Amino acid sequence: MKRVNTFEVVPQIENDKECLLRLLDASASLWNELTYERRQSYFGDGDVWDTSEYRGRYNGVIGSATVQQITRKNSEAWRSFFALKEKGEYTNPPSYWGNEDDGRELRTYIRCNQYTIQWGKRSRLEIPVGQELKDEYGLGYHERLRLEVRGNPKWDGKQGRLELEYDEVSDTFRAFQPVTVPDSRLDSRKIEDFPEVENTSRFRNSPLASHEAALDVGANNLVACSTTTGNQYLYDGRELFGRFRETTDEIARLQSKLREGRYSSKRIRRLYRQRTKRRDHAQNALVRDLVERLYDEGVATVYVGDLTDVLKTHWSARVNEKTHNFWAFKKFSHRLACVCEEYGISLEAESEAWTSQTCPECGDHEETVRHGDTLTCPCGFEGYADLTASKTFLRENSDCEIRPMARPVRFEWDDHNWSGKPYPHESSKEVRTNPKVASVESA
Ligand SMILES: [Zn+2]
Repeated sequence: MKRVNTFEVVPQIENDKECLLRLLDASASLWNELTYERRQSYFGDGDVWDTSEYRGRYNGVIGSATVQQITRKNSEAWRSFFALKEKGEYTNPPSYWGNEDDGRELRTYIRCNQYTIQWGKRSRLEIPVGQELKDEYGLGYHERLRLEVRGNPKWDGKQGRLELEYDEVSDTFRAFQPVTVPDSRLDSRKIEDFPEVENTSRFRNSPLASHEAALDVGANNLVACSTTTGNQYLYDGRELFGRFRETTDEIARLQSKLREGRYSSKRIRRLYRQRTKRRDHAQNALVRDLVERLYDEGVATVYVGDLTDVLKTHWSARVNEKTHNFWAFKKFSHRLACVCEEYGISLEAESEAWTSQTCPECGDHEETVRHGDTLTCPCGFEGYADLTASKTFLRENSDCEIRPMARPVRFEWDDHNWSGKPYPHESSKEVRTNPKVASVESA
């Protein structure tokens, strides 16, 4: 089975960063040149496979192996385009990395046997660059560009083609490393297959997955999560939404100043793109942070509310707008599904009707009142609404025993990470126990 390791590449000196940027920029240029030529052929009834021999020009910067890799990746894109077209599916021919306004999307692909990653206290990645770059940046003839990496490889196996990309908004380099994991190793995470825990492989040492989690997805709190291990997480989106709003206001201001007959400008389009990029970045980081956390806890199943359900039942029009534009709920669900699959966690969409209004103490959902972040019930219950909802949702779907809940952790976005603190808002009615000392074991 194919899995993907994702990590950050962190050049330690400006020289290395510049060298890496040059490599990615030249790669994007090669891709775009090739794409341009093939699109010309395609729309002009020519043969897309018949390309000219200009690619050697890139060898000096990128190195011939990477030139080949990018060419191959481009050909794959065209092949799958033709395959889809043949099946009668609507699809567009492969497109450029980036555009004229925004510049290129900086990215490259490194062949599986051309790079090495060493994981350790100071993990590092080595990738080849062309002779020209070596000369310019002081690398020896046989040397490769050596870069520090941060992150944890989740999967161990035969390494595939490495993808490297630069995210301009957050000024970070990210790497995606596909690995082929033997099927048996994936199975090993199931407790019934491997009762003996003292295996040496990282996967056998990983927490045995038998726990479950439920998510409540919202507009202010992007995600509230409860797990059967007794943990609660809250991802606060207010700060992020505030910034989204600011950009939206700026767009409106610029639009009001446009000359008559004009409806957009370069600057406006740029702001729109920036707004989307920021949101996507935070969203992807949230999904990854959450799923990694759940994986480490040994969660095997995640319950999430059914989308149509969520949008229909208890969301006002204003909240809906917030979720569609700002939080892009569909995109979020898709991302969540992908990352869960990557970690071998199964994601189940269930109806969550009433869960946000149900009292966890007496089960009532008609007399309860939700005010701001708090849910109160005539029976005396008072608790944090979204967290309570995720716990109720978990209880409705899970057959596992649910451990008493620890103090929730609240995460805020700081432009790069979701950093968490114990949540101070405590409800007196809910039992708070350290899950580590709880004696209840899940089945
Ligand atoms: Zn009640």
